[in-house]
Amino acid sequence: MTMISSQEAQSIILQLVDVLNDTETISLDEATGRILAQPITSPYDFPYWDNSAMDGYGVRFEDVSQGEQNNCMTLDIVAEIPAGINPKISIGFGQACRIFTGGMLPNGVDTIIMQENTRQEGKKLRILEPPKYLGQFVRKRGAFYQANDTLLSPGIKINEAEIAVLATAQCSQVTVYRRPRIAILSTGNELISPSQTLEPGQIIDSNQYALKAFILKQGAIPINLGIVKDEKEIIKQKILEGINCADFVLSTGGVSVGDYDYIEHILEELGGKIYINTVAIKPGKPLTVAKFDQGCLYFGLPGNPVSALVSCWRFVKLALDKLSGIKNEHQPQLIQATSSQDLSSNGQRETYVWGKLNLRNGEWFFELAKGSKNSANLINLALTNALAILPIGVTKINQGDKVNVLFLLV
Ligand code: AMP
Ligand code: MG
Repeated sequence: MTMISSQEAQSIILQLVDVLNDTETISLDEATGRILAQPITSPYDFPYWDNSAMDGYGVRFEDVSQGEQNNCMTLDIVAEIPAGINPKISIGFGQACRIFTGGMLPNGVDTIIMQENTRQEGKKLRILEPPKYLGQFVRKRGAFYQANDTLLSPGIKINEAEIAVLATAQCSQVTVYRRPRIAILSTGNELISPSQTLEPGQIIDSNQYALKAFILKQGAIPINLGIVKDEKEIIKQKILEGINCADFVLSTGGVSVGDYDYIEHILEELGGKIYINTVAIKPGKPLTVAKFDQGCLYFGLPGNPVSALVSCWRFVKLALDKLSGIKNEHQPQLIQATSSQDLSSNGQRETYVWGKLNLRNGEWFFELAKGSKNSANLINLALTNALAILPIGVTKINQGDKVNVLFLLV
């Protein structure tokens, strides 16, 4: 199989992903971060009825619009309408009502005068400044939304603003896509868990934890398959367990060309069809992607901790978004930033260098992480939030020049 570009890898992967079929109905209280799976409408206009945007007085525009500035007009105050009351009255010629923010407009009232522009003297209201136009400070019924239009469409992520809309539409229950199940597996004879004592030659399994955090952040359910030795039969059993219980399986290690790198053979033995095994990116060149008949998609990620995460950020994220039911372009979110340092690459593969995006005076700057940019250096990956991308053929981006940056927090 040949080395393919990141764009080709992205489109192959996205074609292999089917959106989840299963939905579940949950209470609105539990819906934060979930992906909406039903269209939402409301039988009510919003605002539900004409109401006041200010504390002030409700008037008939035609009664007060003749007045010039400084030319006081006087009206009779015939009612007081706090929010929450249905004013079963009608305001006639020369009359006004006291009204508070959110208060429902009574018949006749079409304009609000803010209280700062009036003086109340007993039951009389003196208008110090006439309204500028008909409907001033009135929130008209249906101005924000009209009954039975679509309020929210399937495929959006439910965050605080969407929760507010769902609550307003009285959706105490909401149908969402089920959370994807993602199995994680670390392969390597050298790996120990963080709770074990480190012996010479060993490496602590950080990938398992990094991938789990990534999956949780994406709103999916991680299934921890643990560490497996580089022994074919054991790896095979674990992979089988993963593909039978998960939508995606992510393994790290064992996908390069070392003597212990069995993953690809095992996937084929288990009936998986391999679509990708090498991508022209750095870090992250060894990436095995296979699909199984039962629908599970397998990502064999490189073992090096930075490579594994770069592959997740660049490819698995888009795949997971699509699987989850999110409807968008499924493209990496790139920001054009000014590079604060010289960036270099050998130009042969698309190169990802990690660092920080900072916004200064309205301009994005990319600051390269200090220290070695080695794919085993997980230490200086911490506290970064972005990957600057040097395309194939570009060997240098000079300080002060523009660079495309993958923002990792979106
Ligand atoms: P591999 O792809 O299996 O050849 O692994 C490449 C490098 O990544 C080796 O130095 C491994 O020790 C390291 N590595 C593999 N798996 C992990 C892991 N789960 N956590 C941290 N480092 C790992
Ligand atoms: Mg290994």
